[in-house]
Amino acid sequence: MTSFESLIRAMPDFPKPGVVFRDITPLLADAGGFARCIDAMAEPWQGSEVQAVCGIESRGFIFGAALAQKLHAGFVPLRKPGKLPPPVVEVEYQLEYGSDRLQARSDALRPGERTLIVDDVLATGGTLAAARDLVVRLGGELVGAAVLIELDALRGRERWPNGVPLHALLHY
Ligand code: IMP
Repeated sequence: MTSFESLIRAMPDFPKPGVVFRDITPLLADAGGFARCIDAMAEPWQGSEVQAVCGIESRGFIFGAALAQKLHAGFVPLRKPGKLPPPVVEVEYQLEYGSDRLQARSDALRPGERTLIVDDVLATGGTLAAARDLVVRLGGELVGAAVLIELDALRGRERWPNGVPLHALLHY
């Protein structure tokens, strides 16, 4: 059986010098590997009564939608600006250079809906922190976050609240 690690390609100096980009497309293309990956990402949340999965554009949509199916939950896309029709709620967050924004439909979650955030990679943690703010503003109850890959050296986990589960399948 092919391991998850061997299906993730390390691309040095992409998209800029000094960055090692983790390319997950070979994993997605491997039917068995992708299925086992989703099973393993879902496993810690079985029994957590997740009602909604919020996936972060764009690779978080792929893992989030599959996890939502596995956990019998609905799927909510957290999108880049200008993609969703109004009314929307929005959070702005800082990147290494400049800032970015995430939006959701303002009625995307029911009050107290038990919500899991999903993305492919946790790097500096800014994106996940913004998604958490959005879930709180939407009135959801945050169950936790699931990522495929955590880049440990960037210490993104430190920006995630203590006591809220954050599960990563792979660490680099
Ligand atoms: P952060 O906000 O710095 O934690 O960056 C996380 C976001 O950047 C996620 O939405 C990822 O999709 C993306 N990202 C950062 N590094 C990588 C990588 O090496 N491969 C794929 N996506 C990445």
